[in-house]
This record gives sequence, structure tokens and C-alpha cells, in this order.
Amino acid sequence: MQAPQTDLIAPRRTSVGVAVGGVTVGGGAPVVVQSMTNTDTADIAATVAQCAALARAGSELVRITVDRDEAAKAVPYIRDRLRAQGVGVPLVGDFHYIGHKLLADHPAAAEALDKYRINPGNVGFKAKKDRQFASIIELALKYAKPVRIGVNWGSLDQELLTHLMDENARSATPRDARAVMHEAIVQSALRSAELAESIGLGADRIVISAKVSAVQDLISVYTMLAARCRYALHLGLTEAGMGSKGIVASTAAMSVLLQQGIGDTIRVSLTPEPGGDRTLEVKVSQEILQTMGLRSFVPIVAACPGCGRTTSTVFQELARDVETMIRERMPEWRKSYPGVETMTLAVMGCIVNGPGESKHADIGISLPGTGEQPAAPVFIDGVKAVTLRGPGIAAEFKTLVEDYIERRFGAGRRDTPTAGAAE
Ligand code: SF4
Repeated sequence: MQAPQTDLIAPRRTSVGVAVGGVTVGGGAPVVVQSMTNTDTADIAATVAQCAALARAGSELVRITVDRDEAAKAVPYIRDRLRAQGVGVPLVGDFHYIGHKLLADHPAAAEALDKYRINPGNVGFKAKKDRQFASIIELALKYAKPVRIGVNWGSLDQELLTHLMDENARSATPRDARAVMHEAIVQSALRSAELAESIGLGADRIVISAKVSAVQDLISVYTMLAARCRYALHLGLTEAGMGSKGIVASTAAMSVLLQQGIGDTIRVSLTPEPGGDRTLEVKVSQEILQTMGLRSFVPIVAACPGCGRTTSTVFQELARDVETMIRERMPEWRKSYPGVETMTLAVMGCIVNGPGESKHADIGISLPGTGEQPAAPVFIDGVKAVTLRGPGIAAEFKTLVEDYIERRFGAGRRDTPTAGAAE
């Protein structure tokens, strides 16, 4: 597999950088991966365990729900336990309805969080709306925290939407209702950000998101936002769904925007299977960014889909084993082998595309298909290095991968990789 081509990606939109704990969002910084827990925040042990798992999977910011007093009281303990485990990931508090009260009543939580997320659609209603929004912004100023103004069309400011719908109905050239909805989402975000700035919160403390659940709507809304402000943008498709549907919809929407240079941080909102692994959303975010060539997190394994020429499961098992090995070894490799995340591997099922694809990878193996000689040539840096035979092919290939990493990325690495010995 070749490294992704990146010259077709538009230059990143200029945005104001926002410091969230030790992480910068926007301002030209690499696109940040974030995630959110689904534990009850008041359950300190469960929330610490999930935050740590998300952070170890690569989440660079983790958001937790702060929905009641018990959750707010738990926040500083969660922060402290994570730090005691060596997990320094910034924590974002997610507030709805009573955020102003929770932050005021629980100063330790307000201090412990690295960012506050508020939704202008449910921060309060009528006269209370601006007052309660202002209270949160004043607390953000008091504790020197950034804020994400997170609009969600499921909880869109109904007064604003009604006003724009009425205005549109009176217009000589009315737009369709969907376009008015998009405008309401954008205006809700921008008006709230402007109000926050008027209270004293700088643009370098404001991140905007405007989440919808349909791909084309998301592209439309973020294209408008990107053209109308310089705030850092958090991308995410809300209610993306379960399994492959959620992954595909999120990837489709965010890839189009990222290709246009839009987006400073992303979250893939997947509905997990009951008892499923929450860290999948982190893995998907990383894979979106890596396959587009925007960032590198782990070595990528190219594997063919298999077909009638591979009637055994040998190559599927080897592809899975190599993926597993990479995930398990990465925490150590990352420390010992700087740059290892840019490595590419190939595990291929037969001679048709096997040697060709393997030559494009840093290290690749072409397993024998049905009826082929039981031999598996290994290509290193584009040259056939060795041919493996017999029942130990998988173990030997993994050893070759480890040796390659040591030679190429270890302390005594060569500047110019050369091919291995002839078979
Ligand atoms: S490389 Fe061979 S086994 Fe894999 S999909 Fe192509 S033809 Fe089938």
C-alpha cells in the first residue's frame, strides 16, 4: 500500500487556535480526535476506566456528561484518578439545561474540566436563555476555560427557527424549509459565539459545532459556517447510528469536509452494540484521518478481500494477526520507534495482485492461493527479500515485521532503507 496522496486536499481553512488543556484545536494544528463516554459520570470508577480506555486508544480529548449534582461532584475525582494513572487527556464537560447552576454550585468541577460544552438550544428559554448562557460564559472567564458552542438540530433554538421560517414565508422569493433550517443552525451557533465574545470570551476560547444527522445537511451547514467565521470547528455527524451505517455516514460526511480543508477536531458518534467497545469511535476517527493522509496513528495494513483463489482462511488469519499485533505493540513501538506509525504493510491472498501490492508496501507478503506452490514471498522496500514456507509462515512474517521496525525506526536506524537478503 502506498502512502496516501495529499496534494488534492485543499489547504486547511484558517481558524483561531484554541488551547484545551495541553491540546490545541484549530489554528493550523493537526486535526484532533475526540470521543465521549457513555458511563454515568457519577459512577467514578466506570467513568475513569472508560476515559482511560478512550485516551489509550488515541482520543486526544474526552467529553463526559455533567447532568446533575452527583455527576458534577464526581468530576474532580475522575480527573485526579486519571492523572494518578498517568492519563493526562483533557476532559470536556457536557452541559444541558442546568449547566449554569452546576458550574456555579461545583467550583471544583468547573476548575477540573478543560472545556465546557454548551448547547444554545437548551441553555434556557425566553428571558432566561441569554442570562443563563451569559452565566456559563462568565464562569468560563473566571476559570479561564474554553467553550464549545454545540448546536444540534435535534434541540435547535425553536424561537430562532420560528422567526426565520416566518421571515422566509413573507419573502418574495422564499427558500425551501431545509435551507431555512440550515440557516437557523448556522445563525444559532454564530449568534451565541458573538454573544460570548461580547461578554469577554475571546475567539481563542471558542469552538463551534453544528451537528445534524444527514450527510448532505452536515456538508451544507459546515460549508456555510466555514465561510462565515474563523472559529475552530468541531465536526461530527450526530445520531450516526450503529455498525457499518454509522461508520459509513460519518466517514462520508467528514471526508468531504476535511478534503475541503474544513474541520479542526472530529468525533465519530457511533451507537455501540450492547456491551460493545466504546473505543471503536476513536479507531474510526483515526482511520478517517490516516487513510485521507491527514495524520498517521498506526501502521496501515493493506489486505485483499480474498476471492475464489483463496479457499483457505490462512491469509485472513494472518491479516487479522498482523492488525492485532500492531494495535497491541503500538504503545511500546510509539516510544521506541519514532515514525513507525507511517509504515505500510500488505497481506495478500495470491499471486494475482499479491506481489504487486506487496512491493508498494514497506513490507508485504503474498500468500499462496489455491493451486499455487506453497510459498509466500516477502517484499521489503519493494524488493523480494525472502520466501517463507511451511506451517510457521505467520510467526516468521511477524518476526520479519519486528526486525524491519527495529532496523528502520530503531535507535540505530539506517537513513536509507535497503532491501533484505535474497531468498
Ligand atoms: S489478490 Fe488474489 S486472492 Fe486476493 S482478491 Fe486478488 S485474486 Fe483474489
